[in-house]
Amino acid sequence: MSLPVIKLKRGKEESLLRFHPWVFSGAIASLPSDLEEGAVVSVISADGTPLGTGHYQIGSIAVRMLTSDPEENIDEQFFAGRLRAALDLRKTLGLSGENNNAFRLVHGEGDFLPGLVVDIYGSTAVVQAHSPGMHYARHIIARELTRLEGAGVANVYYKSETTLPYKARLDHDNCYLIGEYQGNIAIENGLKFHIDWLKGQKTGFFVDQRDNRELLRAFSRNRRVLNMFCYTGGFSVYALSGGALSVDSVDSSAKAVSLTDANVAINFPPEDAAARHRSHAEDAFKFLTAMQPGEYDLIVLDPPAFAKHRSALPNALRGYQRINAAAMAKIAPGGILFTFSCSQAVSKEQFRLAVFTAAARTRRKVRILHQLTQPADHPVNIYHPEGEYLKGLILYIE
Ligand code: SAH
Repeated sequence: MSLPVIKLKRGKEESLLRFHPWVFSGAIASLPSDLEEGAVVSVISADGTPLGTGHYQIGSIAVRMLTSDPEENIDEQFFAGRLRAALDLRKTLGLSGENNNAFRLVHGEGDFLPGLVVDIYGSTAVVQAHSPGMHYARHIIARELTRLEGAGVANVYYKSETTLPYKARLDHDNCYLIGEYQGNIAIENGLKFHIDWLKGQKTGFFVDQRDNRELLRAFSRNRRVLNMFCYTGGFSVYALSGGALSVDSVDSSAKAVSLTDANVAINFPPEDAAARHRSHAEDAFKFLTAMQPGEYDLIVLDPPAFAKHRSALPNALRGYQRINAAAMAKIAPGGILFTFSCSQAVSKEQFRLAVFTAAARTRRKVRILHQLTQPADHPVNIYHPEGEYLKGLILYIE
């Protein structure tokens, strides 16, 4: 069966020849008038040279390339092969085993599957489609996930309600594609977490902070820790396990705070949790304004993406400056600040400048101890630098 063909304007094949996985709508010379969103298309250059195959969608990114090999079919075998390669990488990283069974199996472009995210929590895979093409492929993907030897996937939950383009009018209710609810406790670096893929944000947990949480564990001994924007309490549980004197977890969502409490409760005896952990359903800005100087000697700032789009960038940078200045002004001398931005629209340099501005405003002596990023199960395709989104700094504040 021959695929619908998208022909590019002259010279517009260059980024594809450099393996960048997107075709922008402005690069297209012609496409079939009846082309449906989500279709698998063949892309050719102005002189007719085949450039590969991808998923078509309406919008500024018009094609997400799946392969640069014009001979490769986008079928079960294709998905099985890509998923196999993705799992092999996670096995190499030691992420799939007894001590850890929560990890990202597929990170979109970083695993040569643009538009697809798959997180594994024990025997459940949570699948997110970001493109109509991946939405249409969801049943094949689910089947291949359960067939993937060594992955141990029995249940596949589909959760794309908020990630698919709204205008595509796809029927995308969240649901189990295969299997059913079979408990929700996953293990990360030996610690237990309830993962709420049914109602939680994203796929239910932020697996992208795993390595940074492990680092925090090492910094926590005998410190009074404030975990701001705690969500499921990942950083709080690691801080308690690292021997923190006390941990305060703050999130504006009452649901998040109760998830944090539940996660503390499955890892520590009740007396210990009661003695060392407190949670607060409060606004971060209010909490930072009200807290006493010197009250904490380790603070984590891991806010939601302040800039979801480029247009929100100036406001976002002011937001990062504000919370960082508030934390730096009040952290105890010799304090450690873990500060993050997960906004893709904010570059590493811009984030650093915002943190620098905050430091300068407080006039404290601040040094960078570590520069953090996303973990290896969120790989960045070198031809697609846009895939790098998580930035963080560990600061020493005198
Ligand atoms: N640090 C978390 C992830 C944070 S997600 C982890 O490691 O898993 C961002 C969190 O910020 C969400 O739970 C959201 O409820 C919370 N949030 C958003 N705006 C807030 C505000 N103004 N004050 C406090 N929390 C806020």
